[in-house]
Amino acid sequence: LCKQWEKEVRKFCGSKLSVCVVTSKAELNKLTVRTVLNCDILIMSVTVYKSDAYWETLAHIAAANPLPNRAGRFFNAALKKSLEALKNRVRELTGHEEEGEGIRKLVRSIKNRVDFDDSHLTTHKARSRLKGKAYMDAKAADDDEDDDDDVVVVGAKKGVKGKALPKELQTSGKKDPDPWGLTTSLVQRDWHNMKCPPLEMFMWNRVIVDEFHYIGETMDRTLAGVTSLQARSKWILSGTPPTADFADVKSIAVFLNVHLGVDDDADTTKDSVRKAREKMRTAAEKFNNFREMHSPAWHHRRQQVAQRFLDRFVRSNEPEIGELPCAHLIKPIRLPAAESALYLELAHAIENLDLRHQRKVFKARPKTKAKIAAKGKAGDDFIVDLDSDDSDGGKKKKKAAAPAKRKQGEPQLEMSHRDQRLIDTLGSSASPEEALLKRASVYDDFAGVDLDAMEGVNNAIKACEYIVRERRKQLADCREQLKRELPVALEQHLLVLHHFGYRDENRQAFADFVRNAHNAAWGDRESKQMVRELLDAANCTQASVSRAAAKAHFAAPGVLQAALKRRAKERAAAEKGSGGGGDDEGKKAKVDAKAAAWAEEYHLRALVHQLTRLRNELVGRVNALRFFSMIRDCQRAHLEGVHVEVVCPAAKCAHAGASLPLDEVSISSTCGHTGCSTCVLREAYIGKCITEGCAALAKPTSIVHASSLGAEDDGKATRYGTKLALLGALLRRLPADERALVFCQFETLTATVAEALSAYGISFVQLTGTARKRSELLEAYQQETGARVLLLNVEDESAAGSNLTVANHVVFVGPLLKQEQQQYDATMTQAIGRCVRYGQLKKVHVWRLVSMQTIDQDTLERRERKQIVQRADVDGNEAEDTLVVEELEQRFADALGGPLVIQDVAAGVGKRKREEETVGRRKRPAKRVVDSDDDDDDEE
Ligand SMILES: [Zn+2]
Ligand SMILES: [Zn+2]
Repeated sequence: LCKQWEKEVRKFCGSKLSVCVVTSKAELNKLTVRTVLNCDILIMSVTVYKSDAYWETLAHIAAANPLPNRAGRFFNAALKKSLEALKNRVRELTGHEEEGEGIRKLVRSIKNRVDFDDSHLTTHKARSRLKGKAYMDAKAADDDEDDDDDVVVVGAKKGVKGKALPKELQTSGKKDPDPWGLTTSLVQRDWHNMKCPPLEMFMWNRVIVDEFHYIGETMDRTLAGVTSLQARSKWILSGTPPTADFADVKSIAVFLNVHLGVDDDADTTKDSVRKAREKMRTAAEKFNNFREMHSPAWHHRRQQVAQRFLDRFVRSNEPEIGELPCAHLIKPIRLPAAESALYLELAHAIENLDLRHQRKVFKARPKTKAKIAAKGKAGDDFIVDLDSDDSDGGKKKKKAAAPAKRKQGEPQLEMSHRDQRLIDTLGSSASPEEALLKRASVYDDFAGVDLDAMEGVNNAIKACEYIVRERRKQLADCREQLKRELPVALEQHLLVLHHFGYRDENRQAFADFVRNAHNAAWGDRESKQMVRELLDAANCTQASVSRAAAKAHFAAPGVLQAALKRRAKERAAAEKGSGGGGDDEGKKAKVDAKAAAWAEEYHLRALVHQLTRLRNELVGRVNALRFFSMIRDCQRAHLEGVHVEVVCPAAKCAHAGASLPLDEVSISSTCGHTGCSTCVLREAYIGKCITEGCAALAKPTSIVHASSLGAEDDGKATRYGTKLALLGALLRRLPADERALVFCQFETLTATVAEALSAYGISFVQLTGTARKRSELLEAYQQETGARVLLLNVEDESAAGSNLTVANHVVFVGPLLKQEQQQYDATMTQAIGRCVRYGQLKKVHVWRLVSMQTIDQDTLERRERKQIVQRADVDGNEAEDTLVVEELEQRFADALGGPLVIQDVAAGVGKRKREEETVGRRKRPAKRVVDSDDDDDDEE
């Protein structure tokens, strides 16, 4: 940004002001005191403060103690001392009439380290007491050093003394002993020629810190550097100042050296702030922090203090950019049935997550599936909680299963594909909202849709059929697994029952499972039937799990012995797998019959736990299959006129068992059951599904009207989803000489958008790589060369505050997700402000793509305090805060000069992508500039 500031000064002030730019420590080294005194504006990059050399030379010229290499209170205290010392040095330097006297005095002071404080912490060397030869050696070294008068360097001295310094105090190796040129005759004649002056030497007229909130966040020495500058006035600028809570306001006050009060953990909502504080505390302070409880009145007063600070020192400048023409356009997107169904599936999966474990799932952030499978932690917790409908004994089983696994290292509960995918999807998101927002924009892996297979699928019915086929395959997998594992559990049950004996006869895990398959409230008729058939096929009936059956089973000679032998072998294998921990457990089991019996029961419980999980998964799959089949049928009805027979199952229904017209049909997306809209909704309000015997949790929000599936323009399915297809179409339609900024919010979403843009053949630039590389890319874009589209992540600071008036289109892929309204407003203003600012010569268009009936719409409505409605009020007296879909569409089309036409990825591009993906599935090229802007016409 330094270069940009220089340009701005030139642009608005011409050559009236002399400007000096320092972007690195190396450039600072070349600067002389005279240049600093003569220039009007010195623009310096804060990266100078990140250099160790800066602080070393500062302490050195101040003739004071060396500064610690790490930021913190320790550093601040040492810096304060150094600055006091520096004042003395400046006085010596400038306070003499005689030529060269000042320099001589300064050199002498540095040599004698006049302000070096031996008692100060930075020189304190904590080391164990030296004895014997070591002591004599150290003493000799010390004496040597004391004699050595020629050493001018104050930093860590070589030898024992230097080594004894704590690590953070040691200076980094090589350095210039005289960066200021004090020994040169030029400087000795006139101190104005002194080079590399620390900025702390000067009294500034005004210090302005741009984008200060980034400095506040980084928590390094930069903050100390910025606040230690002396100035008659200080300005700090930010487009997004933090003001959510007391801690935020305090972080602003720090820049002005105003202390608002002590830290209290109750005054911030941010974990990061708390963690940073925690690091700085001593053990005693940590303890005190627990002990001290402040009253509400105390906090209330602090709020007043913060407010007083804001009133007095903070000013919000409304940029007078009202006259810059700017049009806000919203494109409401109706997701095609297949996409909205996938969205709903995820939404319900999230809703059904146990809230207690939500954090764990979202914070897991697994990188690979293998990793979670290995770790199994987040996944298992999550799955365990899906068992919550297993009303009796579920909790105890859960508890029992966990230690069994750990102790015995036994049945590694493998995770189903569906659950893994869910965790993968959620793991890459920090919150449920984030996961949903991403889904509202693109397909992703959890959808179970192989993106490449989607390529040939170009109409909605086919897309639905494809998903139905996938879900059916998953269901079959699940049944197979259940079929394989039932006999194993049965065998173990009989063994425990007959040979080892249950601890509690009334709680036989497997018998309970068999009984629950018939009685308990889970699944629905269809899935129950399926499970019952599987049970019958595996001969797991009520009768076959009884004691008598067990006796009969082991009646034949050798059967019991064989079973015991097999178990012993399995146990040994498991112990081997689990390593040393299991060893003595095994020995004990051999001697202690009771423990052995208990271990066997543990094993059985783990098996049953796995069965319960599989059973619940089966229910989920039956439901998903039913839901998607229904969606497909509705789609067919809409597009091909195929009749769908739906009868409302409710007893007291107004339709009285008649076949329903399609626009009366509603579907519960949690289980796929259908009925007439009135009845389905009525039951949903009391949390029930309309179909008898279905245990799925219905909610009014999960009810889908068949009429809302299958819009007229719903003929196509696209590789990356409708929204990104529209984005591609929009960018293509922009006038050839105009440029656009595309804003995404999350890293993974940005990556997908990048992939989609290149697949659609739109040339674009992304800011990646080192800070230098980024600024080069940005500069190239500002020069109006190369790609016309700049893809930015709103949270990425590398382009914050940059002037991008070369572009006059701002596209938001989705509404921003922010915790606070104020953060939302600030980020939006900041993003739009890149284009809408002085110097913009064209009319700015702000385009927003919003997927209707998803979190997109909710977020936008809440943040903009507006409502998007389908039709205008009949009376014509529209409220001011409503947006009408038709009008939005119309305005969007008018601004663009015609409606958008969705096109899918060209076939060839898809293939190329696939090859790329086989090389590294998630690895994307750092920067993409595809030059195929001009071939619009060929493709159309
Ligand atoms: Zn009904
Ligand atoms: Zn149902």
